[in-house]
Amino acid sequence: PCRQRLLVVANRLPVSAVRRGEDSWSLEISAGGLVSALLGVKEFEARWIGWAGVNVPDEVGQKALTKALAEKRCIPVFLDEEIVHQYYNGYCNNILWPLFHYLGLPQEDRLATTRSFQSQFAAYKKANQMFADVVNDNYEEGDVVWCHDYHLMFLPKCLKEYNIKMKVGWFLHTPFPSSEIHRTLPSRSELLRSVLAADLVGFHTYDYARHFVSACTRILGLEGTPEGVEDQGRLTRVAAFPIGIDSDRFIRALDASPVQDNIRELAERFKGRKVMLGVDRLDMIKGIPQKILAFEKFLEENPDWRDKVVLLQIAVPTRTDVPEYQKLTSQDRSLDFHALCALYAITDVALVTSLRDGMNLVSYEFVACQDTKKGVLILSEFAGAAQSLGAGAILVNPWNITEVAASIAQALNMPADEREKRHKHNFAHVTSHTAQEWAETFVSELNDTVVEAKLRT
Ligand code: UDP
Repeated sequence: PCRQRLLVVANRLPVSAVRRGEDSWSLEISAGGLVSALLGVKEFEARWIGWAGVNVPDEVGQKALTKALAEKRCIPVFLDEEIVHQYYNGYCNNILWPLFHYLGLPQEDRLATTRSFQSQFAAYKKANQMFADVVNDNYEEGDVVWCHDYHLMFLPKCLKEYNIKMKVGWFLHTPFPSSEIHRTLPSRSELLRSVLAADLVGFHTYDYARHFVSACTRILGLEGTPEGVEDQGRLTRVAAFPIGIDSDRFIRALDASPVQDNIRELAERFKGRKVMLGVDRLDMIKGIPQKILAFEKFLEENPDWRDKVVLLQIAVPTRTDVPEYQKLTSQDRSLDFHALCALYAITDVALVTSLRDGMNLVSYEFVACQDTKKGVLILSEFAGAAQSLGAGAILVNPWNITEVAASIAQALNMPADEREKRHKHNFAHVTSHTAQEWAETFVSELNDTVVEAKLRT
């Protein structure tokens, strides 16, 4: 009963909700990285606050959904279709996502862009305020509030306006770009200032944290210190917290009999050939065309390999604007956990060619499933994971097709002892830097930061 309460606020709740009748809903927990990270954290009592991914215009439906979600420790934020369109599809996924991945701002017709930019930013703020209202309604003194990702950059400020004593942390799951990129964003200052209202701001890598601090010093004229950003004596702590995976979940899954059956089937199907694997959401940041070009070049240059290797590319469609299509694709096209584990396990060479990627958990999951096979990971240097798996992986610049093609040859021809040495390195990292440890570190750092701030004043 004395465990500290943790309110996890993210755009999406970790459940998918399907309406079965006027006042009945069926819920399914989606086991993403964040969910398993926080399930493993026993010292906090976690509750989730977020959007359930469905439009529920009527009060009966909202009440029923709220009740059903409460059993899963989830609290819904209800967003109507127009807000979702402007805030989620618009500002989040059409403006912030590409910008944070160095793809720049959309450049359509100037006037139209300006107008839609303004209304999308207004919707973004409005949506963040709606999240803040729900947090505030559910907040109890002593709670830790952990805000997640680029969808909720306005939230720390809204929360502190409600209650300056609230312990607020914010973590970004994408890269934070160079300040020269962030500078182009019309709402650059307002967003930075609202994030700075948090007590602790976290990123996957030291580079992203440094970019954020530079943006604050150059754009806002504040002082950057080794601890974070200072504004008139008040410090916002900024640090790197690289996420991990629940590696045991993957390692255990490999022993499950459906996975074993699947592994045997796949091994039979690809007998006599080496298997290369790509697993990505269908997103321009993943560099899928670059990957295909590199594979093509490799085959051109190495005709002996043509019937001895196969590249399997899983491309999961996401964020399609039509909700029905979204459901269809996420059910039919993406692989379930067990099928994915089997694929990882039989792969000889995994190929990650992201042009930018916050971390890239696929590379971690591959390593976790490779303790028997000891295959090779080819990893983009522009993925956050390159900072942690660099010693064991072959790092590549995905824009350099010649280099990637050469790395494919190197990986396929790599002697067993070198593969083993590289795998051991990565496996040790992936199994010792888990998602659970990540979550614990962030929350305890947040608690410490608040204590230190009190001592200073
Ligand atoms: N994934 C999945 N089914 C699929 C393909 C991928 O569940 O068919 C999962 C995969 O296990 C991983 C996540 O999707 O946990 C992708 O995370 P990553 O960090 O690599 O990239 P993101 O999609 O977050 O940009």
